[in-house]
Amino acid sequence: MREQTAKQDLIVSAECSSYVGRFAPSPTGPLHFGSLITAVASYCDAKVNQGKWLVRIEDTDIPRIFPNSETHILSCIDAFQFEPDAEIIFQKDRFEIYKQVLEQLKQSDAIYACQCTRKILGSNHIYAGTCRDLNLEFADQAIRLKVTDQQICFQDRLQGQLCSNLKYDLGDFVLKRRDGIISYQLAVVVDDYLQGITHVVRGADLLDNTVRQIWLGSLQNYPSLNYMHLPLAMNDQGQKLSKQNLAQALDINQAPKLLQQAILALGQSAIELDQPRIMLQQAVQQWDINRIPKGIHLNGVFL
Ligand SMILES: [Zn+2]
Repeated sequence: MREQTAKQDLIVSAECSSYVGRFAPSPTGPLHFGSLITAVASYCDAKVNQGKWLVRIEDTDIPRIFPNSETHILSCIDAFQFEPDAEIIFQKDRFEIYKQVLEQLKQSDAIYACQCTRKILGSNHIYAGTCRDLNLEFADQAIRLKVTDQQICFQDRLQGQLCSNLKYDLGDFVLKRRDGIISYQLAVVVDDYLQGITHVVRGADLLDNTVRQIWLGSLQNYPSLNYMHLPLAMNDQGQKLSKQNLAQALDINQAPKLLQQAILALGQSAIELDQPRIMLQQAVQQWDINRIPKGIHLNGVFL
C-alpha cells in the first residue's frame, strides 16, 4: 500500500445516503482489547450517523477456529451491551452463497484454478500468474481471481487516499483454497454486499486487503463502500495486539472498565463508569473521528 501516485484507472468514491456498518470478528481466538476498540469505533460511527450496526462472525477458516471463541465473542457482545440491528450471521453457514458467486466469476472468466503448492510459491507474496493460462480443472485446486495492471485508489476517512497496483503489488489472489475453504476476501465482499453494508470501520492491518476487495466488488458490480481503517493498538512492547501474540481475552466481568479504556484509547473524551449501554450512548453523543490518534499505544492501560 502506498500513497497516491500519478496515474490511476479506478477511483472509488462511495456516496451513501444511509449508513449500515458492521463489526466482523473472526473466532480464531477470543476477543481482545484491540477487537473492543474496533467494535466501539464501528458502533459509535454507525450510531452517530443514525445508521445500523450489524455483527457478522467470520468463521470460514474452520481449521483455524479457536475452541469456544465464538461463545466468547457472543458473550462479549452481550456483556458490553452492544445491540446489533439485525440477527448475527455466521459465514460458515453461507458456503452455498459463496459457491454461487464463484460460479458467476467462472462464467465471466474472472477466475482460474491454481495447482501451485506452498513450496512452489515459497515466500514470494506476489503471485506470478504461473497457472493463469493452464486451463486446469477447478476440482480440488485453489481458485484465484485475475487482477489487471491498474491502479486502484480509495479515500480512507482516517488514512487519506491510498492506491495500489494489484498486478505489481499483490498478484492474482486466492478466493477458495485447495482444501475447499472460502477465502476471507470472497466471504467479506459477498456478505458486505448482501447485508447492504455501506461503511467499513476496521483495523489498519486489513488495509492491504481493501484494494483486493474493491476489485472483486467492482467485477460483481457491487456498490462501493466507505472505509475507515483504525490505527492498530500496540502493547507495551510495541507489538500490535493480536491473537498471535496472545493478547489477553476480554474479561466480561470488567466490561465497564474496559469500555472506558477503549473509548480513551480512541482519543475520545473520558466517560464515567456506568452500565455499558449508558456509556456507549454517551460515547456516541461525543464521537469525533478527528480525535482518533494516529497510533494507539496502550502503555499502562488496564488490561
Ligand atoms: Zn498456480
